[in-house]
Amino acid sequence: MAAKQQESRLSLKLLIDEKSNRVVAAEAHKEFVEILFSFLTLPMGTIIRVTSSGDTKNPVTSIGCMNNLYRAVEKLSNENWQTENCKTIVLRPRNPLGNYSQKLKLNIDESWSNTYYRCSRCCIWMSWYPNLSCTCGGKITRTTTAGIKNEGAFLQKGRTMFIISDDLQIRPSCPSVLAQLLYNLGLSDMDGIREMLVEVSKEQVIFLLARSLVSESALSDVFLPNNPTKHETKFPKPETESTLQTTEQNEAPTPTLNLQVTLNKSTNKILFAKATNEFFDFLCTFLTIPLGSIIHVLKRNFGGLGGCINNLYTSVEELEDKWFGSSAKSDILNAWIAQYHNCKKQPLNLDELIESKLLLDPRPNQNFAGEPLLFVVLDNLDVKPLSSASSSLILRELKLPFSDVEDQVITVGMNEALSLLKAALTSPSSALTNGLASFLQKKKLEA
Ligand SMILES: [Zn+2]
Repeated sequence: MAAKQQESRLSLKLLIDEKSNRVVAAEAHKEFVEILFSFLTLPMGTIIRVTSSGDTKNPVTSIGCMNNLYRAVEKLSNENWQTENCKTIVLRPRNPLGNYSQKLKLNIDESWSNTYYRCSRCCIWMSWYPNLSCTCGGKITRTTTAGIKNEGAFLQKGRTMFIISDDLQIRPSCPSVLAQLLYNLGLSDMDGIREMLVEVSKEQVIFLLARSLVSESALSDVFLPNNPTKHETKFPKPETESTLQTTEQNEAPTPTLNLQVTLNKSTNKILFAKATNEFFDFLCTFLTIPLGSIIHVLKRNFGGLGGCINNLYTSVEELEDKWFGSSAKSDILNAWIAQYHNCKKQPLNLDELIESKLLLDPRPNQNFAGEPLLFVVLDNLDVKPLSSASSSLILRELKLPFSDVEDQVITVGMNEALSLLKAALTSPSSALTNGLASFLQKKKLEA
C-alpha cells in the first residue's frame, strides 16, 4: 500500500454525456496536456514496450503490426546483431526530447537518463553504454552525469485550463470553444452532461497512449472502460500509386532499397519478403523514430496518421506559439530521430538530432544487423533470420501450390517507405500487402 500512496496522480475533470455514456470533453491544467504532448516524443519501440509492460505477448492494445515487429526483434539472438547494444537501441530507443520528460508530473518512460560513460584514459569520448572500446584504445567505463540541457517544459507556466475532446483535440479553455465542441457532437445544452473528477494514474496514461493510436474515443475508452461501444479508427484503404505525390523536386534525393517479395499471384497478396541487412536496419528504425516525427513524415503524402494521435499532433500545430516553452512546439512536431538511431540508407529522409559530437556510435559500421545476413519478413512484420530450416517451414505453413507463387523486386524509395510505415501502424496483420502491393508490377496479360 505504501508504494501506491506515493504514486503521483493528476486531477482531470470529465464531462460525460449521460445519454450516450461517452466522455464528450475533459478540462485539464497544463500538467495533463504536457503528458499528452509527450506521447509525440516517444519512439515506437518505447510505446510498444510501455504498453506491453514487460509482457510483449499481451499488450494493452495492439498497434498495427508494430507489436509483431518488436517481438521479432526481441527474439533475435545476439549473433544477428553487430553488438548487443544494437538490439538495445531498437528495443529501448532513446527519446531525443527526454530532457523535457524529466519535469512531467507522470512520466511513463523511465529509460531516458543523463548518465554517460567516459573513456578510462580520460580522453574526450563518451557513450550512453558502458564497455565500448574507445577510438584511443581505452575502454568506456567511468560514469559521469551531465547537466540536463534545456530542461524546459512543453508549455509556459500558468494556470490556464485546456479543453480536450474525446478524440484528443486540445484548445485553451473558453466557454464558446466548449459550446462549439458540444454542438458539433449534436448536443444542444449542458442538460444531461454530468461532471466527474478523476485522479489519473500512470496505468491510465499508458492505456490512453495505446488507445490514442487506434481509437476515435480515447478518453471514453480509458475512463468509461465498461462502455461497450469503442470507436476504433477506420483507417482508409491503402493508397494506390497514382494518388501518391512524388517527392518535391527541391528535396535531397532519397536512398532506395531493393526488396524481393514473394506474392500469391491469384490474390496479389504479399506472402513474405527477403530482406537484406540494409532493409532490416530500415525496419528497425520503425521502432526508433519518435511518433511526432512519424506523423511529420506521413504528412508528406498521407495527411498524417489518422485517429486521436493525429488530432493531438494537429492541436500542437494550431496552438499559438505563446503557449509553448522556447523551442518546444517545433521540437514536438519533429524531434527527428535520436543520434545513432537511424539507418545508413533511410528512404524516409530523416535526420538524426545530434545530442553531442563527443558521443561514440555504439554500432560498428553504423549498422544494426550483423552481416552478411538475410532475413525473411512475413506480411505481419514477423522477422526471422533466413535459413534453410525456416524456408521449408514457411512453405509448409503457406500451403500454396508453387505454381501460384511469384517473386518480384520492389524498389523502396520515399513513397514505398511511407506507405509501408503507415501500413505497419494501421494494419493488424498485412503490413507488406497493404503497404506495398500497389507498387507491384501489374500482371502481364496471359498470351
Ligand atoms: Zn579514449
